[in-house]
Amino acid sequence: MPILLARDILRQEPAHLDAFMAIKIERDTGLRHSAEEQFGLECPHCGIYAHMSPQSVPNFATLTEDKPKHCGMVYQCDACTAPVFLKFAVKNFGDDTIELHRNFSELERPKERFEFSYLPKQTALLFREALTCYSSNSFNAFASMCHRAAASAFESLGENGKLQAFDEVMAAQDIAEINDDSFEPIKKVIFGSGGVDDLPNLNRAQAGVLLEVLKDMFYQSFVRRGKLNRAIKVRRFFVQDGKGMKSSA
Ligand SMILES: [Zn+2]
Repeated sequence: MPILLARDILRQEPAHLDAFMAIKIERDTGLRHSAEEQFGLECPHCGIYAHMSPQSVPNFATLTEDKPKHCGMVYQCDACTAPVFLKFAVKNFGDDTIELHRNFSELERPKERFEFSYLPKQTALLFREALTCYSSNSFNAFASMCHRAAASAFESLGENGKLQAFDEVMAAQDIAEINDDSFEPIKKVIFGSGGVDDLPNLNRAQAGVLLEVLKDMFYQSFVRRGKLNRAIKVRRFFVQDGKGMKSSA
């Protein structure tokens, strides 16, 4: 049976979501996903795309009586057994079936990770907060923090470093085959010189692209350089340390 990856579905437009599986709470049998699909999600606790088993489902009679607009369900991650809390909007109350919209929201999102230790202190501080905003679905707060994190990085990199970073971002656009119109808001957030009022509003999909592009830019500008420098220092240390030793060759 195919496992449906919720993160992939969420990246699509909500209008497309109903074409997939229906989620229903039945009067007699409780929760029912359409038979041919299992339900999978990136677990906020262990970070694995895992199958989720229903653990706690709202009572049919109580929902029918109260008719709330939303209801919550708890799933259990099959990989780490942690509880995963999801909120669904109710689509329809029927006599024997309550149908839920499939575009749920996750109450806890997986944390985005990055090798912060390689970033300048201020950039690391700002980018860490940016990723927290992203994990909380606050995409415009995320964009504002990305703008500040990028500005702080450019201050450390200097004018030449900024130009190099610009080239890296253009290369990322090319690799990802994103057209200029779609990429314009991403560029504006990273390189825009106006105030925060000039920042574009980003939707989930655009925020996802911004996240990957900025991670790549920071990787190329700081992490790669830092790792390479560290590795070369270690090699030099061993060469110096070995001075005077007889060659074993
Ligand atoms: Zn898990």
